[in-house]
Amino acid sequence: MTETDDFAIIWNETLNQIRSEIDEQEFLTWFNLEFLGADEKEFTIAVPSLFYLAQIKERRYQAYIEGKIEELIGKHISLNLVIKPRTEPLSPPAAETPAGEDSSTAKEAVKAKPKKEKHGQLRDDYNFDTYVVGENNSFAANAAQAIARNPGINYNPFLIYGGVGLGKTHLMQAIGNYIHYTSDSKVLYITAETFTNEFIAAIHESTERAKAAFKNKYRYADILLIDDIHFLQKKDGTQEELFYTFNTLYDSNKQMVFTCDRPVSDLKDFNERLRSRVGRGLNVDLQPPNYETRCAILRKKADASKIVIPDDVIDLVSKNISTNIRDLESALNTLTAYARLVGKPVTLEIAQQRLKDVFASPRQSNISIEIIQRVTAEKYHLSPNDLKGKKRTQSIVYPRQLAMYICREITEYTTTEIGQAFGGRDHTTVMYSCQRIEDLIRTDPTVDSTVQSLIRDIKDYSVKS
Ligand code: ADP
Ligand code: MG
Repeated sequence: MTETDDFAIIWNETLNQIRSEIDEQEFLTWFNLEFLGADEKEFTIAVPSLFYLAQIKERRYQAYIEGKIEELIGKHISLNLVIKPRTEPLSPPAAETPAGEDSSTAKEAVKAKPKKEKHGQLRDDYNFDTYVVGENNSFAANAAQAIARNPGINYNPFLIYGGVGLGKTHLMQAIGNYIHYTSDSKVLYITAETFTNEFIAAIHESTERAKAAFKNKYRYADILLIDDIHFLQKKDGTQEELFYTFNTLYDSNKQMVFTCDRPVSDLKDFNERLRSRVGRGLNVDLQPPNYETRCAILRKKADASKIVIPDDVIDLVSKNISTNIRDLESALNTLTAYARLVGKPVTLEIAQQRLKDVFASPRQSNISIEIIQRVTAEKYHLSPNDLKGKKRTQSIVYPRQLAMYICREITEYTTTEIGQAFGGRDHTTVMYSCQRIEDLIRTDPTVDSTVQSLIRDIKDYSVKS
């Protein structure tokens, strides 16, 4: 028994047995493991991200799997877990292609049922099939798929958070579409803004019936998807209405999914009772995609638009746009529009020419060093002059380093210019400070969230000013 095929069979059988032993949702979430190869001593198995790897160890799944293998073949073989971001899309809803090889019931169901009408509020192209999975989103994507398959059971509510253009709406609607096409559940999708507007309109209605119609619409949903709940900050009445809707749905095990541009703990002017409920289920964040994932996304979108985009152009765009997927997409749209117009494929020269303004534009043109200093100082109860001054007490040094780091991250100023603005410091001091913060981010997760929340405050501030 030395053939890789034999090992692959053992691996599949191991997973089958585990699947029959544990909760289905747990299995779908955590046993998304790819067999890469094996020898007499070791199975090499791919996991989609570092986070996943840590969870597999923390939850003792590794020992569990090794034990299963030993049970099956009578000897110990260890697992060698390697990280391999998956850039393949998740399998599409069963209505189109049945998920598992052996899901004959799903196949029959597909034959018996004609394809359902498109959902009224959901974009059909926001599905799992078009969602590229990379290390930035694999946990969120796996969880979303598990929830789509078993709504209302384990992860209720499900909260997806992260910055603009990172795929929150897409993933949320993919859950909705999956459930819509594979069941008779009533899926409701609404943005927090429309929910607010409908609520305000309802309270101005004269009849009780009209008021009740609004409440009932949401409280009778099987699946409720509310997008961008940060919009509800300061909207006390709407928050309260959502609180009651939440309780009704939660008590009857109806799945709710929310998206937000920040962790719920960072929402301001938000009702505490609602905050604790919205955050009580599974909270996952979406990060910006890395270079490989950006390439995979562009490739997929280019293929979908049936326009030939050469690899060097994909590489150029992926290297130059790292902010978010919406920006990537709009660069690609510029190129495909051009190619259609002139009826010629896009070359590297054309792409460079067409996108030069996009590439050149500063990431956050309206944010000045001064604003960053002001907001950071305020957060630490200091004055901007403290950050520019010479004092080296820890309570000043850390905020100063943070502010320098943020300047480098979100503005286009050079380290020399940043040093200048911080009391005429040398650019090497700026580089050292940034390095310090990077090290801290790597070892202490709270530093990363401090940075993210500061950046949000800075952006809010610069929008207002
Ligand atoms: P958000 O709601 O977080 O602002 P969206 O869901 O609207 O972001 O995503 C912005 C665009 O990027 C959408 O067109 C979406 O289809 C696309 N997109 C985001 N993430 C992915 C992904 N992982 N794979 C493919 N397309 C993506
Ligand atoms: Mg969105």
